[in-house]
Amino acid sequence: MKLNGIGAAKGLAVGPVVVLRELPVVEHKYIEPNEIQNERKRLVKALECVGSELMELKSRLALELQGIIKAQILFLEDPELKSEIDIYLSQGKNVEWAVEAAIDEYVQAMMLLKNDYLKERAEDVKDFKRRVLAALMGLSASGVRITQPSILIAKDLPPSEIIGLDVSLVLGFITEQGGPTSHSAIIARAAGIPAMVGVINLLNSIENGDIVVLNANSEEIWVNPPNNIRISYEAKVEENNRQLLIAKSKKDLKTVTLDDREVELAANIGGPQDAASALEWGAKGVGLFRTELLYMQKNELPSEEVQYTAYKEVAERFAPDYVIFRTLDIGGDKALPYLQMPLEDNPFLGYRALRLCLDRPDLFKTQLRAILRAGQHGNIKIMFPMVATLNELRQAKAILNETASQLGIVKLPEIGIMVEIPSAAVMAGAFAKEVDFFSIGSNDLIQYTMAADRGNKSVSYLYQHLEPSVLNLVDMIIKAAHNAGKWVGMCGEMAGDPEAIPFLLGLGLDEFSMGTSAIPKARELIRSLSYSECQELSKLALACSSVAEVQALIPGIVRGQIS
Ligand code: PEP
Ligand code: MG
Repeated sequence: MKLNGIGAAKGLAVGPVVVLRELPVVEHKYIEPNEIQNERKRLVKALECVGSELMELKSRLALELQGIIKAQILFLEDPELKSEIDIYLSQGKNVEWAVEAAIDEYVQAMMLLKNDYLKERAEDVKDFKRRVLAALMGLSASGVRITQPSILIAKDLPPSEIIGLDVSLVLGFITEQGGPTSHSAIIARAAGIPAMVGVINLLNSIENGDIVVLNANSEEIWVNPPNNIRISYEAKVEENNRQLLIAKSKKDLKTVTLDDREVELAANIGGPQDAASALEWGAKGVGLFRTELLYMQKNELPSEEVQYTAYKEVAERFAPDYVIFRTLDIGGDKALPYLQMPLEDNPFLGYRALRLCLDRPDLFKTQLRAILRAGQHGNIKIMFPMVATLNELRQAKAILNETASQLGIVKLPEIGIMVEIPSAAVMAGAFAKEVDFFSIGSNDLIQYTMAADRGNKSVSYLYQHLEPSVLNLVDMIIKAAHNAGKWVGMCGEMAGDPEAIPFLLGLGLDEFSMGTSAIPKARELIRSLSYSECQELSKLALACSSVAEVQALIPGIVRGQIS
């Protein structure tokens, strides 16, 4: 059987599935008055068990992920909830029923408030209920433990569930609910685990122990596929792993072309939890720290201290290599419910990233303080996202300067912008005079140039890395920066695309920043290319009139490595 869904984190996986089903239906029964005391004791024991489970989970998590768990630890102590449960016990209901009734009531009250922030917290309360009921029933919170490499199947995977798993045994995730920007999808991407979400009818189609082929690149899933499909995918996964191992073993080699042009190869990360794998895969710096993940893991704005600790950890781990902190890029498809931003007709064209930060200097300054303080412990750079006008850049720099002088910091780090709005690309010459570097955000630059939503499959034929208009814009941006003596990186997906790399190299890109798992292959590819040949190719590409014409220029050596 074949199922379709939305690819949330690229990659292939083949293996047995573990289905995380909901807990069994809670038994409702009346108890005798002399049994109430025993039920109270069972509750105390279950809460203790949940308490140690949560504390153990918390101790294993990076600081910025701990907020999810802390919210649940607070419920353990909540006197109101305990007295609600006790009322049901005194009415003669068994403890499972009492817990269920009391927490459901609590959740309903939260949902009635029609407040997005509280609705999100209601999810935490439901997660907490599952834990307590599981403890009362003698099950683990999910009812399942993973003991062998498996593909996880679930209706939805709350972040607390994913981060509690031994991810080294998780070959992939598939969920019935959720979208590509759900927390689970973001965590899967950061961990480099293939994932698909929004798979209709998933739980009705799969049983524990079924074999699944997951192709998150083509957004297809086969349940118990014919042998030939399974075998061919097993071979592909094995070959991918083999190539990665070889490429990883070369992680300390320079990223240099056959004719000695050296470029920077850096990682895109979402927080300290990604630092180890980025280093292990050979990143020589961080070209993009997506700081918004830290904001999305919580139900409130992270404090300066929480941010400082996370940023410092990353700066220290990479020093003396650099870490580029992108200031908060929220909005568009990345919502922060607790900020209660108004609904917009066109969120990608709306109140997001730097636009929001300039409008909320309180929030912006807190982040800048945390970054600047962390900068004292490593080699950092700061970059502003979604800059459309010089005026915005100047305002952002003024706030940064003010924050630095309040902290007594005299020597500012390098300051750059993401060039991801066509207006900034067109005005790159003027911007280059006022920054230290550019990082091309191809993900957004392509969607705004082509007027094609980056997440809309129906217009994906327009959303192409090798579109001549995109290559010409990239060329303009690089030339403008180099004319002003500044360097240019790229941190959109295009930088890690083997088909695009020869052209970017030829156009003179100085830094390639990408998802960790793309790094080894990119290094190998660049080491096998000649810069002067790539320069010739990119000249030809700029004059092409279609993607197909550019594709025809892709060197044979690249094709060999892509297949
Ligand atoms: C981009 O737009 O290319 C980019 C790297 O930023 P994000 O994908 O986070 O919008
Ligand atoms: Mg972007």
